[in-house]
Amino acid sequence: MTREQAHLELMHAIQAAPTKAPCVALPVPAWVSDDLAEQSRAAKLCQHCPVLTQCRTYLHTYGERAGVWAGTTLSQRWADTGKPKENDP
Ligand code: SF4
Repeated sequence: MTREQAHLELMHAIQAAPTKAPCVALPVPAWVSDDLAEQSRAAKLCQHCPVLTQCRTYLHTYGERAGVWAGTTLSQRWADTGKPKENDP
């Protein structure tokens, strides 16, 4: 599966979820903020997301170089791996 297909599947799962994903429900740009405190708050809210597991699988498979994904900030992901995924754009 390509990154684009996996991303599209995740977006469909978010739309079909019984409750809204926090990154969709909340009118704040915390998931793409440059502010570390905002990112941290967003990452905590991910823990209540109905598609957290699918989002985490997508993230671990394809990586993301920006934003908060699956309860992790960019700096946390880089700290875990030392570098972005090789198949990141
Ligand atoms: S886990 Fe976080 S980033 Fe992923 S869909 Fe849910 S709220 Fe959005």
